[in-house]
Amino acid sequence: MDRDKILLTPGPLTTTLRTKLAMLRDWGSWDADFNAVTASLRSSLLSVIHGHDSHVVVPLQGSGTFSVEAAVATLVPRDGHVLVLDNGAYCKRAARLTTLMGRRCTVLGFDEAAQVDPATLEQQLKGDASITHVVMIHCETGAGVLNPLQAVSDVCAANGKGLIVDAMSSFGAIEIDARKTRFDALVAASGKCLEGVPGMGFVFIRKAVLDDCAGRSQSLAMDLHDQYVYMEKTTQWRFTPPTHVVVALAEAIAQFEAEGGQPARLARYTSNYQTLISGMAKLGFKPFLDPAIQAPIIVTFHAPVDPKYSFKTFYASARSRGFILYPGKLTQIETFRVGCIGAIGPDEMEQAVHAMALTLQDMGIASAAPA
Ligand SMILES: *Cc1c(COP(=O)(O)O)cnc(C)c1O
Repeated sequence: MDRDKILLTPGPLTTTLRTKLAMLRDWGSWDADFNAVTASLRSSLLSVIHGHDSHVVVPLQGSGTFSVEAAVATLVPRDGHVLVLDNGAYCKRAARLTTLMGRRCTVLGFDEAAQVDPATLEQQLKGDASITHVVMIHCETGAGVLNPLQAVSDVCAANGKGLIVDAMSSFGAIEIDARKTRFDALVAASGKCLEGVPGMGFVFIRKAVLDDCAGRSQSLAMDLHDQYVYMEKTTQWRFTPPTHVVVALAEAIAQFEAEGGQPARLARYTSNYQTLISGMAKLGFKPFLDPAIQAPIIVTFHAPVDPKYSFKTFYASARSRGFILYPGKLTQIETFRVGCIGAIGPDEMEQAVHAMALTLQDMGIASAAPA
């Protein structure tokens, strides 16, 4: 069968037919029609965070990590000092790219089964005046933890530190309001909860810090200030834009708005999440996280203790039934992940659970209970 499989992954994810169809045209990067799409897209993105007064948004070619790297390079002075709040794999990636770009970087570690702690952050900031910026991941996609953005933002504001937020897997689904929450930069991308296709990121930069960013980036391609200035002056992207990705995202955002924006998206993902959790519980699967800190974005499950279980076989069998699962990303214990995001609803989640039930039967596993 050539029907697309359903992607239960945190990007790329399942998109609607309308979004896919938007890519069937060619656009000139200098053409006014395309530049109008870019302008309207940027305005819609700012509306999602109520950020028209406080922030600008700068799109950038590439996957989400390119934009995180660009945000750090553009925002942090070369002699700046970044504190990364680390409770998972994407935090470690942010620390690594910060170090590779020659910025001083300190990592404040937390348990990967817990949220980062604002009180510990406050202590660290009081004890080291050289820290200029804090980097946090809003939803740590590694395990699926939702980190306390408002509390971290309050601590940074009270201590006069810049805050850079990787909101890649939360943007569009979890509320982020720039009128209430102060951040210098916030990063997201086309192929996550907005349900576009992968290929571009975008960074919200606080207007008050924008001018100071000139000349800070050590990279030409990653310089968001330069991209911003060029885009404002010419309405064009600085280098070849991912035209098909841009028009697909514009189409995906039109559907996002028609659905009811962020609250509606959160409601659908929450109902996907609840359908998944309750169905999986019946099979014996146990989630890794305490539900109180779990984002309804991606769920980590313990692997079954049954010796007949192997992720490879489990994956292949679920795949043959039309569902693509995601491996675990924890270092200590064996897990796998199931995404709740994308152009899917509770019906698809129910079918996914059913596919996993049949898969367990095939493997001769009576209960998926962990050790
Ligand atoms: C998806 C994601 C990224 C970006 O990953 P890419 O593979 O570069 O698209 C960054 N941070 C988080 C938290 C993510 O979920």
